[in-house]
Amino acid sequence: MKTIIGLEVHVELDTDTKLFCSCTNKGKDPNDSCCEICLGMPGSKPVLNKKALNYALRICLALKCNIAKQVIFSRKTYFYPDMAKNYQITQYEIPVGSGGSITINNKEINLTRIHLEEDPAALIHQGSSTLIDYNRSGHPLIEIVTEPEIESPEEAREFLKKLITTLNYLGIFDEKNGIIKADANISMQGSERVEIKNITGFKEIERALNYEVLRQQEMIKQGQKIKRETRGWDSDKGITSFQRSKEQEEDYGYILDSDLVPIDLTEDYLKEIKKDIPELAHEKIQKYIKNYNIKKEDAEVIASEYLLADLFEKVAKKINPELAAKWLRRELMRVVSYNKLDLHDLEIDETHLIELLELIEKKQITEQVGQRIIEQLIEKPFSPKEYVKKQGIKVVSSDKELEEICKKAISENKKAVDDYKKGNEKSIQFIAGQVMRATKGQAEPHKVQEILKKLLK
Ligand SMILES: [Zn+2]
Repeated sequence: MKTIIGLEVHVELDTDTKLFCSCTNKGKDPNDSCCEICLGMPGSKPVLNKKALNYALRICLALKCNIAKQVIFSRKTYFYPDMAKNYQITQYEIPVGSGGSITINNKEINLTRIHLEEDPAALIHQGSSTLIDYNRSGHPLIEIVTEPEIESPEEAREFLKKLITTLNYLGIFDEKNGIIKADANISMQGSERVEIKNITGFKEIERALNYEVLRQQEMIKQGQKIKRETRGWDSDKGITSFQRSKEQEEDYGYILDSDLVPIDLTEDYLKEIKKDIPELAHEKIQKYIKNYNIKKEDAEVIASEYLLADLFEKVAKKINPELAAKWLRRELMRVVSYNKLDLHDLEIDETHLIELLELIEKKQITEQVGQRIIEQLIEKPFSPKEYVKKQGIKVVSSDKELEEICKKAISENKKAVDDYKKGNEKSIQFIAGQVMRATKGQAEPHKVQEILKKLLK
């Protein structure tokens, strides 16, 4: 059964103030960041936040959308306590961007449109009563609508990952505190489509899609007909449930918002916006392969995580880029994912990484010691150079020096030597362990074995 998914992704833009007033986006206590505009009081007049428009234009240009000639807004009729003025200001007739695409695994997912709109207030349910926090009312959102071209929940995840990476590079989304939400249309080829509303968070979106795809497939297998409907996602129970039969778009009764004057998007204006678009992931991948000579696979992993890319570029200025790529992409990310951490949570100082890689590059410590240091570095920052000095760690590089340590271990571990000579092969591991300890892990294990076997012949 072919799965067909279309997404409507809502992303909160990282501006200081709301979309149509000068209230801060970062209110602390409930309802401490509101004014007559975001509370929808009669007679109040919205004024467009230029920064939000510019941010929306950045993502539209980065995703190669066609840009509207003019920015206009409409009122979407909407009667609910989270929208005090009974309509939401959004873009309907002409979105700021249309077309464009995001490529995942060599497949293009086309975009229908990208538009700007205001977020409603937050409803907080407490027992039998509901409280309203208008701090969120008027937060700037962009809505990114895809064509129904996504064919699995995994593809949806890849799409979102790529989108978030691009938003991060553009500096318009706060991944740590910003909210990403989605509505998803899901159908099995030949069946009616079901809409799931309001799934919050990157991981939840994939979970909800996984559940709904299975549910529909199961229904079809049992010969049941899928009805066109809207469902909600319950993240606690991990299920979608019926909300209502699908309404038509016209029900919202859109009308142009006459309070907001149209803004012309001239070539000169767009030229200025283009100046603010930095190098994006696909450009970085090419640069890493060409200038730094690192593997395509490594380049892709590094560039897909903008914090990692940033760290890599700083480190690669001082360290052989191939070594830096290997250690950042493999060792650092191994430790980060093993500890179930996120790069955002870490306070990694690039000078410490540079010190560590210098020690490895100059063969002053072994890779094993390097791995141990990197494991500690993600817990708290410290200088690897000073650490190595304090701990008295140094590479036992000469065979002669290592042979002396092996001889000493043999003379101090008579019983293990006897056992080995009686045919207990495992005893040599014990002696090797003593040598590794004496060298603080700075000897190469296979070399130690080799020397011990030679000496014990
Ligand atoms: Zn306000």
